Amino acid sequence: MSRRDFLNIAAVGGGAIIAVSMPTASSAARKKFSQQQAHYQPIPKSGQRCQTCALWQAPTSCQQVDGQISPAGWCILYAPKS
Ligand code: SF4
Repeated sequence: MSRRDFLNIAAVGGGAIIAVSMPTASSAARKKFSQQQAHYQPIPKSGQRCQTCALWQAPTSCQQVDGQISPAGWCILYAPKS
């Protein structure tokens, strides 16, 4: 292997590492759980509701669960505001 071949392989390999480690907006969005994964339901459970959860983002979002989230909803990730 010539020095030029080695440098070409190193350059391509380095590019691949950078491409793999750079998060994209779409991959960040995918980090949320689906409503099905979180066992989301649009009604409260045992007095717990999204509006009192630390992960709630008014008016209809959640930091951890994807899609439209009702303030009266609930899921297994519920974390009460402290
Ligand atoms: S209960 Fe679940 S869906 Fe509702 S705000 Fe909390 S984490 Fe999000």
